[in-house]
Amino acid sequence: MYFREEGNKIIIQRAIMLDLDKRAITYLPGVGPKKAEILRKEAEITSYEDLLFYFPYKYVDRSRFYTVAEVNGNMPYIQLKGRILSFDTLGEGRTRRLVARFADGTGTIDLVWFKGLNYVTEKYKTNTEYIVFGKPTEFGHVYNIPHPDIDTPDKANQVAKGLTPFYNTTEKMKKAFLNSRAIQNLQYTLLSQLNWRLPETLSPDVLARTRMISLTEAIRNIHFPESADRLRDARLRLKFEELFFIQLNLLRTAGLRKRSLRGIPFPTVGHYFLTFYNEYLPFELTNAQKRVVREIRADLGSGRQMNRLLQGDVGSGKTLVGLLAMLLALDNHCQACLMAPTEILATQHYATVMGFLKDMDVKVALLTGSTKKREREKLLPAIASGEIQIIIGTHALIEETVVFASLGLAIIDEQHRFGVEQRARLWKKNPQTPHVLVMTATPIPRTLAMTLYGDLDVSVIDELPPGRKPIRTLHRYDNKKAELYAFLREEIRRGRQVYVVYPLIEGSEKLDYKDLEAGYETFQEVFPEYKVRMLHGRMKAAEKEEVMREFASGEAQILMATTVIEVGVNVPNASVMVIESAERFGLSQLHQLRGRVGRGAEQSYCVLVSSYKLSADTRKRLEVMVNSTDGFEIAEADLRLRGHGDLEGTRQSGEGIDLKIANLAADGQLLQYARDIAAQILDEDPDLLSEQHRILSERLKTLFERKINWGMIS
Ligand code: ADP
Ligand code: MG
Repeated sequence: MYFREEGNKIIIQRAIMLDLDKRAITYLPGVGPKKAEILRKEAEITSYEDLLFYFPYKYVDRSRFYTVAEVNGNMPYIQLKGRILSFDTLGEGRTRRLVARFADGTGTIDLVWFKGLNYVTEKYKTNTEYIVFGKPTEFGHVYNIPHPDIDTPDKANQVAKGLTPFYNTTEKMKKAFLNSRAIQNLQYTLLSQLNWRLPETLSPDVLARTRMISLTEAIRNIHFPESADRLRDARLRLKFEELFFIQLNLLRTAGLRKRSLRGIPFPTVGHYFLTFYNEYLPFELTNAQKRVVREIRADLGSGRQMNRLLQGDVGSGKTLVGLLAMLLALDNHCQACLMAPTEILATQHYATVMGFLKDMDVKVALLTGSTKKREREKLLPAIASGEIQIIIGTHALIEETVVFASLGLAIIDEQHRFGVEQRARLWKKNPQTPHVLVMTATPIPRTLAMTLYGDLDVSVIDELPPGRKPIRTLHRYDNKKAELYAFLREEIRRGRQVYVVYPLIEGSEKLDYKDLEAGYETFQEVFPEYKVRMLHGRMKAAEKEEVMREFASGEAQILMATTVIEVGVNVPNASVMVIESAERFGLSQLHQLRGRVGRGAEQSYCVLVSSYKLSADTRKRLEVMVNSTDGFEIAEADLRLRGHGDLEGTRQSGEGIDLKIANLAADGQLLQYARDIAAQILDEDPDLLSEQHRILSERLKTLFERKINWGMIS
């Protein structure tokens, strides 16, 4: 029973593809429930499709044979052809091992196993020809090959011609006999079962435009490369596909929103904005701030919903821009809210906004997790009635009980701490979709911004307020503490204040608090004449507030903290930032921390303290910090040094992009190309309704079902 019409054929194909992502891996011959569970936990493989898209991370050339005589210590994986002469079990306990003497006519070499000894002696025979594949290592001036793969020559011909793939596997996977070779065998089983044919995921016009090879060919060659050229084509096609669908999704979501979501129009620039701007603004806006305010005003007046990302280095004056936008909302009879990721930050924003607006008649409220019940009972009705015009707070703002009368603008500060879902909740309960301004001080390299926020419009404040002296950054080793203390004492004597920050790494929190607490004791001993204070996430909100107050008012000279002070805290008189164990921080986090100083007119310093033993990469990271104060430059360096997978912000956000094969640091051009092609397709067919594009919209559904929904509302 075959369908002949072209249209029906596509429908059949779709059915097969949906099938692949719905078919559980546990039913693949050779898997079963136990291995399926391990594949799911360790490699996020749950379906047939997941397995096919589990790509090798490297390939080793098996097209040539080496001889034992050629073997030396710095070879990659090699293969030898020969016979096992004998097996011996040597050593006791942890050094117990099986050694096979292997000879190929040019010499002998030992093959060594520390695990699975019985399995090996049962499976392999002496005096039989084998292909041995492994990495020679030197051990006491002789070479051996630990845990080699061994095949009979005909088996080797089948699975391992030319380039052999290597798959990432974990210890747990290996223990369950899911090593790299086993994964390749599973790929073989699966592809055989599918007759080595897969339904296409790109539409005919995309394939024609890009001249990419078919999915069938690409998947076959990524797992079983015919040649280096074919492998290159396969990688290109799969990278393109990955980037293309991300861009198609983002651009389509943005297009949909632009066409369908009417924004609340803010036509009026009125009393609130003008009074503040003309009478109470304490300084002139920088040109960059002026430009961004114009961009925001254009958005808000357009009748379309604003979705704008405001990037600006720490200290560039984003808060003020946000405040001006909020006043525009008020001028148009709407409320505005400002949501911050921590209580400290929300409280500080509240103080800042209250300071700016102290002579104006604007009702501002603060709502956080530690707002008292009685206070809350007064606030909630006032928010619901519209009496309160500006609400500043934390996650508490998105609780069910908070209902706005007319939320017109939502500003989200330091957005990396908020997940997409949390953002979505904020507008779900509002009758109209408010305008959204996301402010972040984490500079994001262009390629990453295109991928993470490709659906947002972007404004950049690329200029600091005048009169700021660049921060001087020093790198010091932790065995030179006396000099550091002397330097700090001198700065404090001049009236400055000091931050000392300790890393806090998930999973080892106890240890980190110990570091902080030990440091706190030391500092109290070293600086008995000054007030030293400690701040960390485990303290009660009231305690934290008191510590912050003492430091902000200048009563305390030294504030020792975990990274809770990372974002947004603003004490202009604090001009020295000491970062302990700086090697444990990522570049953008270091940059964030450093941004806490350099806010006043004084010369500011950032001292990176590290141990003497550093890896080459870490040394480079610290060098970048010493040599640059430009957030974008640092973010680019971060991307280069660490790769996007590790980039902070993307990981913290919980909405990091999980790329299987493309690499944002290396594939910037391909990303731009994929975005251009996606834009062309959507120009012609904005809703992907034409028959030939159905394949694309179906694929988007499979890949982004949830994200499309969230995208609509975020
Ligand atoms: P960001 O949130 O971008 O890190 P802030 O909004 O906290 O920066 O601003 C940092 C400091 O600079 C604040 O003390 C703010 O009052 C001040 N500031 C903002 N804009 C200007 C300006 N145009 N001129 C002078 N100072 C400014
Ligand atoms: Mg800020």
